[in-house]
Amino acid sequence: MDLIYRYDPFAPIETVQIPTAGDAINELVCGNNRFVGIVQRMQLRTLGADAGEPIVIPFSPVMMGLPLFQGAMPQQTPYAAVLGCSDARVPIESVFNQSFNKLFVLRIAGNVLGAECLGSLHYAVTQLRDSLKLVVVLGHSKCGAVTAAVDAYLSVTEFADIASTYPLRSLLDQIQISVRGAAHAFERFAGADIRKDPEFRTLLVTASVYLNAAVTAHELRRELRLQGGGPEVVFGVYDMETLLVQGCPALPADAESQPRLRRAPVDSHELTAYAAEVVEAVIATEKSNLTVP
Ligand SMILES: [Zn+2]
Repeated sequence: MDLIYRYDPFAPIETVQIPTAGDAINELVCGNNRFVGIVQRMQLRTLGADAGEPIVIPFSPVMMGLPLFQGAMPQQTPYAAVLGCSDARVPIESVFNQSFNKLFVLRIAGNVLGAECLGSLHYAVTQLRDSLKLVVVLGHSKCGAVTAAVDAYLSVTEFADIASTYPLRSLLDQIQISVRGAAHAFERFAGADIRKDPEFRTLLVTASVYLNAAVTAHELRRELRLQGGGPEVVFGVYDMETLLVQGCPALPADAESQPRLRRAPVDSHELTAYAAEVVEAVIATEKSNLTVP
């Protein structure tokens, strides 16, 4: 299998225009699909599949977001700002198959919204508003920060050991509201006995990752509105097994019908409804044998 980056200085330069938030969402979803497609083809090849036709990717400095001539410097023109987790397995530009100067990226453990983080996003939406059409919060499966917050929630007596320093407690405290919201949603859907299920911790981590992304997007939307507006805010979760960014857990057969990036909840009712949807989906995808009313 050949993967070829090809530069022809005489070929027309293809640039993607992103005039609206919808175009930005479409480009991110298409980019994630490109990334998934290439990796899946390599994985199938590893298992003995036919090499097939080479994948030829047109390439040029301009398409990479770099100047065409040595010594020049491009103006900063990202079309989206992305708040993601620091996890080394989730590089934002790679997940969305985007090059230089496309994304304004912030990465912090658990993709939580601290003051400095919010200040950076304020800068982006005010100073880069000519190009910036979208703000994205991206969580990811098996997030270590969310897992620590879940363990702190489930084992109060061990909280001091898990969150041993003030900065770490501060980070985990921000995720607690999502963990509690997910836990209550599980109880509403499946009854209080679900807490005794040996897989409850795993289910709670999965649901909390989605809810944490939604809560952060909700708070970010509110903060940007308080500051006088800003672009649309959406959220999603990168699944490290399927490599897909998705707005809600879904079985592979249902993945295509789900919105991949979802609009930030506007109020507590939408957050509660989203928590219920996520919990039902988590149980359907990860624990189909669980008896629920
Ligand atoms: Zn993480």
